[in-house]
Amino acid sequence: DSVYHISRWGDGYFDINDEGHLCVRPHQNENGPRIDISEVLEEMKAQNIPLPIVVRFHDILRSHVKVINETFRDVIREAGYLGQYTGVYPIKVNQMREVVEEIVDAGAPYNFGLEAGSKPELLSVLAYNDNLDALTVLNGYKDEEYLRLALLGNKLGRKVIVVIEKFSELHKILKLSREMNVEPVIGLRAKMVVKGSGKWADSGGEKAKFGLTIAEILTAVQILKDEGFINSLKLFHFHIGSQVTDIRTVKEVIREGGRIFAKLVQLGAPLEYFDVGGGLGVDYDGSQSTSDSSMNYKLADYASDIVYILKEICDAEKVKHPNIVSESGRAITARHSCVITNVVDKIETSFTDYKTDIVAGDHTLVQNMRDLLETINEENAQEVYNDALDFKRECMNAFRLGIIKLEERARIETLFWKITKKISALLPTMEFIPENLYDIDQGIAPQYLCNFSIFQSAPDLWAIGQLLPIVPITRLNEKPEVLGTLVDITCDSDGKINKFIDINETRNLLPLHELRPDEDYHIGLFLTGAYQDVMGDLHNLFGRLNEVHVFCDDEDPTDFYIEEVIRGSSSESVLAAMQYNPEAMAYTMKKNIDRQIAQGKIMPREGVRLVDFYESCLKSYTYLKQ
Ligand code: PLP
Repeated sequence: DSVYHISRWGDGYFDINDEGHLCVRPHQNENGPRIDISEVLEEMKAQNIPLPIVVRFHDILRSHVKVINETFRDVIREAGYLGQYTGVYPIKVNQMREVVEEIVDAGAPYNFGLEAGSKPELLSVLAYNDNLDALTVLNGYKDEEYLRLALLGNKLGRKVIVVIEKFSELHKILKLSREMNVEPVIGLRAKMVVKGSGKWADSGGEKAKFGLTIAEILTAVQILKDEGFINSLKLFHFHIGSQVTDIRTVKEVIREGGRIFAKLVQLGAPLEYFDVGGGLGVDYDGSQSTSDSSMNYKLADYASDIVYILKEICDAEKVKHPNIVSESGRAITARHSCVITNVVDKIETSFTDYKTDIVAGDHTLVQNMRDLLETINEENAQEVYNDALDFKRECMNAFRLGIIKLEERARIETLFWKITKKISALLPTMEFIPENLYDIDQGIAPQYLCNFSIFQSAPDLWAIGQLLPIVPITRLNEKPEVLGTLVDITCDSDGKINKFIDINETRNLLPLHELRPDEDYHIGLFLTGAYQDVMGDLHNLFGRLNEVHVFCDDEDPTDFYIEEVIRGSSSESVLAAMQYNPEAMAYTMKKNIDRQIAQGKIMPREGVRLVDFYESCLKSYTYLKQ
């Protein structure tokens, strides 16, 4: 645990058993059920489901829906707050039907609702949120069709709330509700002055893409009064961005939003709901800090700040405590799924083992490099490293001009790696490490080649440098002797992971175990259930992953059952998504092979085998076969 900080980011959902296997505690309970992830992998192997896979622990999903609702309820009770908590899950965070169904089911006792931000999401939400007491909150830009669908929901007796993000939507919804003869339920989204903290801060602030200014909100209230629709105005909303890292931002925005809310009620707006949007963070790196992949607060602090500050403002302004709505997506879904991949190889660029003994007539650059290697100490490490980089550059220039031989280049490169390794060994004892020496470890570290695509399975890791916990699934009772980085199987140089949780200051390297011949080594990327699960792309045509849904067995706390296996994309399905016709491709290949058979270049029996082989590859998984 001290190497991978599991208890810090795992939030009670993950721990290590006596055999050194990573386990899931689906109810955050040390004495409750426990699932050994390696046993899930064995079961997958037995069922012939190849890696990489997404493993979903639906109990975690259910458990976290409960945790969020119960936490708000507890705080509300303790504060003597007179409104209720009625949260919604924004399906954009993970639209997988099974995820949405599980959240709706686990949230039913709390009337937990859904939020949609687009027409296709609204179509799903209308079909899946049929609890008449749960809210359906609609954000995003809306056309007439979107608004008609919303009003259809109202006709069915649902609590569908259309949040006005853009002023023109107001006129449209009033016109359509008259036309469809149904009372709309309206929310107003405010542009807040307070900006979020962290990577998504631009969702808030005065220049935010969504929301109405205070002037527009006042005009909207007047229009609703004039048109006889003021009783439809039920919800006040803001959203200052996902993954709010600093609790001070939460406090500030509730103060700003609370005052606007109270003043609007005093102006005659019959608002009943105060919707704080999303933003509740996930501590991906376990540092409990305001770093972009962390947060300096807990769920209970978040709920307390919202409830107590709102209560204080409403009491001071003498308005009724509203029901509190939050739209937490990341916090609900992130923990429930992980991506598990197998390491295919260890790549060691720095492992050039060429003889570097003195050879008569060696170029001076070789001799210079050799001299550098002899002189390294803690004091001159930076200077030696800079000189070595220089000599290496000169070596390349000389090589291009034909001045040095291939063997000399090999000797210079080998000596360079020997120098960097020697400096790297000195770093732990050095009092001060100059900045450019930090690169050294990354340069010589081995790369573990993993059977997956970052672009499909962890897009935020590549796109915005988001950290994710990465942990081997087994051997956690053995000291990891290797410090390395990870690379994926795409042929894109961005397909690598060289930023890791760095609480032990391993200088952005991941502690790993030495690979053993004939033994699988599995690595898991955790907390991938929010956004990562659904935002990946088909870079290099690596498709969706095989997916397994795991539940704990109520009878036996150490057992589990697999409720469902969803096969990932086959090569033919990703090709079809790019407008290819796999059937026609197979036919063309057969024709080509037949021609070779006719010319006697391929034997008929082998030809049949080759046709079958091409067709079976079209049907198979896009990732490397184990
Ligand atoms: N609500 C709205 C309006 C959003 O735009 C988002 C996403 O940014 C969310 C809720 C979900 O936010 P989070 O995943 O931080 O809970």
